[in-house]
Amino acid sequence: MTAGTYPELHMIIDGEKIPVGHRRTHTVVNPATGAPLGALPLADSADLDRALAAAQRGFRVWRDAPPQQRATVLASAARLLRERQEEIARIATLEEGKTLTESRIEVMMNVTLFEFYAGECQRNYGRQLVRPAGMRSAVTFEPVGPVAAFAPWNFPIGNPGRKLGAPIAAGCSVIMKAAEEAPASALAVLQCLLDAGLPKEVGQAVFGVPDEVSRHLLASPIIRKLSFTGSTAVGKHLMKLAAEDCKRTTMELGGHAAVLVFDDVDVEQALQAMVAAKFRNAGQVCVSPTRFIVQQGVYERFRDGFTERASRLRVGNGLEEGVQMGPMANPRRPETMERLIGAAVAAGARLHTGGRRIGSQGYFYAPTVLSEVPQSTPIMNEEPFGPVALLNPFRTEEEMIAEANRLPYGLAAFSWTRDAARQRRLAREVESGMLCINTTALGGPDAPFGGVKWSGHGSENGPEGVMACMVVKAIHEG
Ligand code: NAD
Repeated sequence: MTAGTYPELHMIIDGEKIPVGHRRTHTVVNPATGAPLGALPLADSADLDRALAAAQRGFRVWRDAPPQQRATVLASAARLLRERQEEIARIATLEEGKTLTESRIEVMMNVTLFEFYAGECQRNYGRQLVRPAGMRSAVTFEPVGPVAAFAPWNFPIGNPGRKLGAPIAAGCSVIMKAAEEAPASALAVLQCLLDAGLPKEVGQAVFGVPDEVSRHLLASPIIRKLSFTGSTAVGKHLMKLAAEDCKRTTMELGGHAAVLVFDDVDVEQALQAMVAAKFRNAGQVCVSPTRFIVQQGVYERFRDGFTERASRLRVGNGLEEGVQMGPMANPRRPETMERLIGAAVAAGARLHTGGRRIGSQGYFYAPTVLSEVPQSTPIMNEEPFGPVALLNPFRTEEEMIAEANRLPYGLAAFSWTRDAARQRRLAREVESGMLCINTTALGGPDAPFGGVKWSGHGSENGPEGVMACMVVKAIHEG
């Protein structure tokens, strides 16, 4: 495979590359052009049973492997990712549409995560309890078992990296089903791990009809943990399937991030950061800033500045130099934008820029700014997952916090204020798994990433990400 071409697609089961053969297929499409990229084989139940049997063997192999071996595999895979950065980034942009710069950054995020996990997997210390002489009690952490991991399309490199990295660091085996829309990026990440020496039974990649694959894998007692990133609706459904067998779960679900902008803020600084964060990956990011809750004193300046910057963004094919926002990833997204934005405007929201598709090829939607959006409209309540900012004016801090906490979602929240006492109040009061104060930098290999309420539970990244693939055992000796 060379940079610029799209690879042949396959699954990886027990170390074997499984081609299309006589299987059903899914056509992978370039969202910038609508043109087909390749045919992806979809697993049948025999494929999934093979993957389960391999994962069962793989767990025994990897659980007993020295932590240094796991560390070496993760660190070597990080090195290979770095070497293959350009090739993998181009594949991700072809499949998902985001700009090449974003895809390159995503590869590097994965590199630093694997490097961090390479260290973290050697720090599984456990705990010794204080007991009378002659007695001993210890708390140990053990890998949970084979993991079924489902990675969505919006971070085609980063999501598979998280789904594979944590179980592998913990000593688990993993069957990953990445999104059928962006399979080659996910395969490229797994291939780096296999080329770095990961035993073939430990990491596998299947694709299929999502509901068939999740039902099959989650019905098997071999799988001991479900790790899912995606919408809240699908997450709730999968949690019910996992509950049948009391499987552990890490659920990274939807969001509707609030941004609280207070009167005391440097408006230009806030605009610079928030416009870039809003339109990254065409807004198809679970932590994308969405509800802008702006205090009256800076409201008009913030709204006009946001509109001006959004309308200047260069939208186009992510492979082209200078493009700042690519297409949406699949035809469902612009359709959703039209539905949600249309309903908001019909209900009285003011449209400042965007609010339309761009061109007739691919799935482009213009960066959109709406203001005075009625609270009851669907867009103020459902995750839009697209390039739209919703701006509304507020008077007091109490009203702003109440609006931030109004929805059942609680993934990320952002706030802009220079008042230190208020920063502390926000840190306590805002219901979210992650809160940014005067920054948008919430990712990092060492920082737990996850939500509360309908945004899910459990963390990825950080020591917490590895611990999420462990179970606790207390051992008492008399
Ligand atoms: P979707 O809910 O149908 O799918 C989301 C992801 O879940 C996809 O990767 C899909 O392959 C997978 N999926 C769907 N049904 C499944 C099943 N029964 N078993 C296993 N996996 C299943 O929606 P979509 O149209 O692909 O994406 C749109 C919505 O998904 C967005 O509105 C957003 O809420 C959510 N989403 C969230 C994230 C995130 O990072 N949290 C990422 C992508 C999509």
